[in-house]
Amino acid sequence: MTQKRRLGIMGGTFDPIHHGHLVAASEVAHFFSLDEVIFVPTGLSAHKEDRKVAAAEDRYLMAVIATASNPRFSVSRIDIDRPGPTYTVDTLRDVRDLHGPDSDYFFITGADALEKMLTWHDTGELFELAHFVGVTRPGHRLADPGLPNGRVSLMEVPALSISSTECRDRVMAGEPIWYLVPDGIVQYIGKRGLYRPV
Ligand code: ATP
Ligand code: MG
Repeated sequence: MTQKRRLGIMGGTFDPIHHGHLVAASEVAHFFSLDEVIFVPTGLSAHKEDRKVAAAEDRYLMAVIATASNPRFSVSRIDIDRPGPTYTVDTLRDVRDLHGPDSDYFFITGADALEKMLTWHDTGELFELAHFVGVTRPGHRLADPGLPNGRVSLMEVPALSISSTECRDRVMAGEPIWYLVPDGIVQYIGKRGLYRPV
């Protein structure tokens, strides 16, 4: 009997992708013996309508650039090509449709995002579709997660206090983002003039 493939899915706005995302994916891939981690940039985010998000194509390309050197990382367009806001339940359904029942699915998410998930719709189905791995990031602790038993694991990753918000604010203020994001992302942001004051 062949072993099931173990597929990680890391959804995010990735505006921009940074080393916190990459370290989290790498750590989970190692400790959960994943064969592949698919980064899935969101389309219109259902949860970030309050601010202007960089074009999906830019966020997608940055994810491709950041993951290109890792043979176990890939990037999917499924969320940016689906019209309307992105809901994780759709992401999981579509990835499962593409990769079939012979894989086990692991959705990787920050603990902060995991807590918010309880307010999302279709949470019942969510936990049927994948095993959830919540990575703890600085400043966020799961108090009383109230999440379904056995379908969720929590994992500490090296405390990288990097966020996309901080990266954007830095670019806006003319401060460096070297080493917070991969070199290619610094260059891409500069080349496309992203996050700069208008
Ligand atoms: P923003 O500041 O705009 O909210 P972000 O840095 O949180 O951006 P997202 O694209 O919103 O980035 O995050 C995608 C996923 O990665 C989420 O599950 C989030 O919790 C997780 N994540 C973000 N930053 C880190 C980090 N430094 N370490 C571990 N996980 C992270
Ligand atoms: Mg976030």
